[in-house]
Amino acid sequence: MDIIRLKNVKKQYKNGTTALYDLNLNIEKGSFVFIIGGSGSGKSTLMKMLYREEKPTSGQIMVGGINVAKLRNSKVYKLRRKLGIVFQDYRLLPKLTVYENVAFAMEVIGATKQETRVKVLKSLEIVGLKNKIHNYPNQLSGGEQQRVAIARAIVNNPKMLLCDEPTGNLDPDMSIEIMKIIEKINKDWGTTVLVVTHDKEIVNKMKKQVITLKEGRLVNNKAKGTYDENA
Ligand code: ADP
Repeated sequence: MDIIRLKNVKKQYKNGTTALYDLNLNIEKGSFVFIIGGSGSGKSTLMKMLYREEKPTSGQIMVGGINVAKLRNSKVYKLRRKLGIVFQDYRLLPKLTVYENVAFAMEVIGATKQETRVKVLKSLEIVGLKNKIHNYPNQLSGGEQQRVAIARAIVNNPKMLLCDEPTGNLDPDMSIEIMKIIEKINKDWGTTVLVVTHDKEIVNKMKKQVITLKEGRLVNNKAKGTYDENA
């Protein structure tokens, strides 16, 4: 079953730049997919359309049964509840502790304190940060901050995890650790995972589905792929 479907999707920004031309793509539920391609090839634009930060200029986008292109602003929360999103720059709230950063995502959906506590601790356990719940983000390494961001993204048990260059600011060892955590979430929970990355070594090592974008077009889509040198 496809959890994501894009049909003839085009994205042209207001200034006239076309970021994506006629994109057709289906992603099966439970997949782990790398999205690669050079700078400006449209990777972030694709991700932004999936979480409805941007709307396509034309074409259809279905995400978890929701017609994203037609979704009203007032209903975007319904889509976001199905998604966890992880960014390169972590985006933690600096004045909240690790626990509070993760709990915040649950308060937003109106969970009880008890339910929040159980789920926050579970998420922090999965990313291996249960011993740092009282730290503030500036007391953590980059890798640890990204682990908090992942815990926050999965705390509501989303169907999909969208990661835009999650290891872009991390050294190789940290990057592998982060990818292993993301892989574990995919395997243990069946969460569909999309990871935008430039990390050739990781892509080659993990042997997952690889989608290559080039100048706004999909040029490759391979199961158990490697880093496409033409990207
Ligand atoms: P990537 O993530 O692969 O680096 P992007 O999706 O960020 O690529 O960008 C694709 C193209 O769209 C680039 O030419 C970029 O300059 C352009 N672009 C991205 N965001 C905007 C925007 N908000 N307004 C205008 N052009 C944009």
